[in-house]
Amino acid sequence: MTRIDESMTAKGVARRLLADDEPASFSVECENGKSAFVLICDHAGRRIPRALGTLGVAEADLSRHIAWDIGARGVASRLASQLDAVLIAQTYSRLVIDCNRPLGAPSSIATRSERTDVPGNHDLTAAERSARADEIFAPYHRRIVEELDRRQSIGRPTLLISMHSFTPVFNDVARPWHIGMLYNRDTRLAHALLALIRDEGRWVVGDNEPYSVSDGTDYAIPVHGEQRGLPHVEIEIRQDLIADEAGQSEWAKRLAGWLPRVQGAGTIA
Ligand SMILES: [Zn+2]
Repeated sequence: MTRIDESMTAKGVARRLLADDEPASFSVECENGKSAFVLICDHAGRRIPRALGTLGVAEADLSRHIAWDIGARGVASRLASQLDAVLIAQTYSRLVIDCNRPLGAPSSIATRSERTDVPGNHDLTAAERSARADEIFAPYHRRIVEELDRRQSIGRPTLLISMHSFTPVFNDVARPWHIGMLYNRDTRLAHALLALIRDEGRWVVGDNEPYSVSDGTDYAIPVHGEQRGLPHVEIEIRQDLIADEAGQSEWAKRLAGWLPRVQGAGTIA
């Protein structure tokens, strides 16, 4: 019996979630990038560990926003190469475990997302939960910590950009924003970007919309940004604008123009 078979048949005795031939929980692009910006993408991927099947969710739903941030990876990759900035991106679906939620939060391993039930997330044992935390969540965040530690140890300036995308319609409510700047305690980068982008007069820019950052509902910004005192912002782009490669290129180019212009805001305490 292979390890995969064991984990499929031994419900309640989670031995090993990812098989040897499955990809790591994160990928890194532009690893030696020279930029002061560090890009992360918590909801980049929609892959599900083979041992979990489809989590009981229909394929049509697994391609929707509930499983991943549509277009965010495409924008982040292009932005990384244009800025020459390192990008660390999550491989697996947020339905497996949400890498932007504190472990143990109700939405960390969601049993329901928008109106879709996630049968594979019901009644998990502690071992099943910790397998997801240990094999998906932890390695991704460890890699981010390593990157930030390394830069800190050599005195390299760092600004953290967390890339996300949001669905244009949520629970039947249409959202007007093209892009949103999300933050909590540290307003430096977010406010500078808000002012810059609004100044162009073309865009509806969300100020902590369509979401805001909080300790209970977020992980990356509170932990990697706020706790380390790094200037940061979470950027949300509306998914219909970046659903295809042309849109992803356009928005990466815009961000690659905007971000260097607010880099100085990060040095103003
Ligand atoms: Zn997201």
